[in-house]
Amino acid sequence: MNRFTKITASIGPKCEDKETLTKMIAAGVNMCRLNFSHDTGDVQGRKIDLIREISAELNTPVAVMIDIQGPKHRIGNFETEDKYPLTIGQKFTFDSDPTPGNSSRVQLPDADVMKSLRVGDRILLNDGKIEMVVDSVAPDKIETTVVRGTEIWSRRGFNLPDTEIATSVLTAKDRADLDYAITKNPDWVAISFVQKPEDVLEVRDFITARTSHPIKIIAKIERPNAVARITEIASVADGIMIARGDLAVEVPFEEVPAISRHIIRECRKMNKPVIMATQMLGTMVNSEFPTRAEITDVANTAYLRADSTMTSEETTIGINPVNVINTMDKILSYADGDAIANPYDWSRVENIPENDWSRSVASMAYLNRASAIVVFARDASATMQISCRKPDIPIVAVCNEQVIANQLCMLRGVFPVYSNELFAQRDAFNAARKFGVTAGKLVIVDEEKISLRTLD
Ligand code: PEP
Repeated sequence: MNRFTKITASIGPKCEDKETLTKMIAAGVNMCRLNFSHDTGDVQGRKIDLIREISAELNTPVAVMIDIQGPKHRIGNFETEDKYPLTIGQKFTFDSDPTPGNSSRVQLPDADVMKSLRVGDRILLNDGKIEMVVDSVAPDKIETTVVRGTEIWSRRGFNLPDTEIATSVLTAKDRADLDYAITKNPDWVAISFVQKPEDVLEVRDFITARTSHPIKIIAKIERPNAVARITEIASVADGIMIARGDLAVEVPFEEVPAISRHIIRECRKMNKPVIMATQMLGTMVNSEFPTRAEITDVANTAYLRADSTMTSEETTIGINPVNVINTMDKILSYADGDAIANPYDWSRVENIPENDWSRSVASMAYLNRASAIVVFARDASATMQISCRKPDIPIVAVCNEQVIANQLCMLRGVFPVYSNELFAQRDAFNAARKFGVTAGKLVIVDEEKISLRTLD
């Protein structure tokens, strides 16, 4: 069986040579994530060229996703590179003074953050290891009390789970990165630290003002205010990433599984694909084997019928990125097969209107025990909608544009076939055969027409 749950791989120093990347794509990577928090400009551009080259050589569609850093906040520098001790209950001040910090104060360089903080808001530094609560707010000074943490040092990142930050979702760096990335025609752009639907619209305006290439937008959900507005955000984005790294800092970590399930359900209703991200096989940074908990996490993503898993450091800096992809492929393939063989699952209980046309497609396929659904995909939307019904049979998407094939290849159960000829002739039988389906019934979707044919 072809694997239904797709794999997104973060590309970094340990896997950006041609040999390793070719092996990873051959082993089953469907989408490559290029994280602009690290490299930018031509360094990322060369990686995009390499992915396109390998995709053509292996004759397999591979999506390119640009991940824009977004407003990641950091405190200023301290007098030395040493760690400065903190004690619970002590006062600590953030101000706008660039003078190096000490054990009682440091600069908070971002004026928008200074303006947005309110009394009672939590400031979580260094992945939540330090927690401070705001006691008082003045134009250039935020006074806090330390409630968790033992030491602080220069340039620590911080999260503000209680604060709606009045800032653009695109920093000056993001705008420069996007300006460049757009010239390389990426298939997807992921935006970090989305807070509201307007953030997605702002990025869409930025992109459409610069290109007519149909770039799709993924909103990364990593803030509580984004979780609270997930339906509105999913309605304007083209896809969602559950960015569990920052999310587990910003919300109590025990809530992350419930939030993930909620997001998957909402995305399904809104016909949007969803990527489960972060620490999926994290121990494989240093190990050839995953932990039992990681195996279960990856498999559960398939059981939840999410569209894609994602690797992070395990492929960017890990000891064996190809092994990571083989491991993920093995776990997902088995779980997909089991999920399809035992279809009853809470995630199938859904709130889709009875007259939704894509539901008719899935029902027709189910009632007739079809072998595949073949969609003539002029753009990505019809296939995306059918995929969200999770029909549990392959959806062969015949595309006459490479970008559509690339974008669709990260959707659960969608197998794009890029061919002008098959598309022009509306040749569903040969498309199914090309994918490996040689017998049985096909549900064929060609714009408004839905038909059932027996493959002969
Ligand atoms: C995350 O926080 O889970 C994530 C994917 O974002 P980043 O790696 O950009 O911090």
